[in-house]
Amino acid sequence: MSKRNVVLHVADVHKSFGGLHALSDVDLQVEEGTTHAIIGPNGAGKSTLLNVCIGRIAPDSGAVVFGGQVITGKQPHEINQMGVVRVFQTPEIFPDLTLLENVMVPAFAKRDGAFRLNAVRPMARRTDIRDEAMHWLEDVGLAGQAGAVAASLSRGDKRRLELAMGLVQSPKLLLLDEPTAGMSRHDTNSTIDLLKKFKGRGMTKVIIEHDMHVVFSLADRITVLAQGRIIADGPPEQVRGDPKVQEAYLGGGHA
Ligand code: ADP
Ligand code: MG
Repeated sequence: MSKRNVVLHVADVHKSFGGLHALSDVDLQVEEGTTHAIIGPNGAGKSTLLNVCIGRIAPDSGAVVFGGQVITGKQPHEINQMGVVRVFQTPEIFPDLTLLENVMVPAFAKRDGAFRLNAVRPMARRTDIRDEAMHWLEDVGLAGQAGAVAASLSRGDKRRLELAMGLVQSPKLLLLDEPTAGMSRHDTNSTIDLLKKFKGRGMTKVIIEHDMHVVFSLADRITVLAQGRIIADGPPEQVRGDPKVQEAYLGGGHA
């Protein structure tokens, strides 16, 4: 296999909160078109790493390079405009709007550069945006409920809606933050099936996850964090058998 392009390079990032080293010497590369999982027990630093990547947390040192450009120091919305889209773990659906309107908001923002919620209803006449939003609702299996209000959806279906809202932005890099957190096994499995459907479409994905079952069925490569440090990095079969990883999950004294 030929060497692929590195889309995201987290370059030697450190971040402390007071005396606590949330991230130490974190250096990782995500290759174009792959699904790259970042796993680790609670408190390992996964959310901190994700927030560094999207510009919500400034690292103490080190940098994040996306598409060859240093993005450290840019605002979250600027990073988003560059094609870095984060979904899940944030209640970023609009409960009072219909599913179709929910997907139209980011579709419209992508073209206009800002979310303008009050402009959504007139925008319903914009058939191009409407059609595009509908296309993504079909893709995640929610087209039949396009006119329903988002608040009425099940937890699993809300995740589908959020995914459609992310995909409509044509991300270059999609960051999925614990896509199955708090879900029943049934909803987890249907979410895995949905994410599998989006594998191999050329989009680069980073999945933050603590559920090993989820990542081993999706990831091309896995980076394991524990106590703020990378303890393993490689293809799933290599990481699975790594005693350090098993210790971090099963022993190691932290939840
Ligand atoms: P994970 O997502 O892997 O569970 P986090 O990145 O949320 O881990 O947290 C890593 C460590 O940093 C934890 O010990 C957590 O308590 C601490 N931490 C995270 N955010 C903050 C913050 N804003 N202030 C202080 N400590 C924080
Ligand atoms: Mg977290």
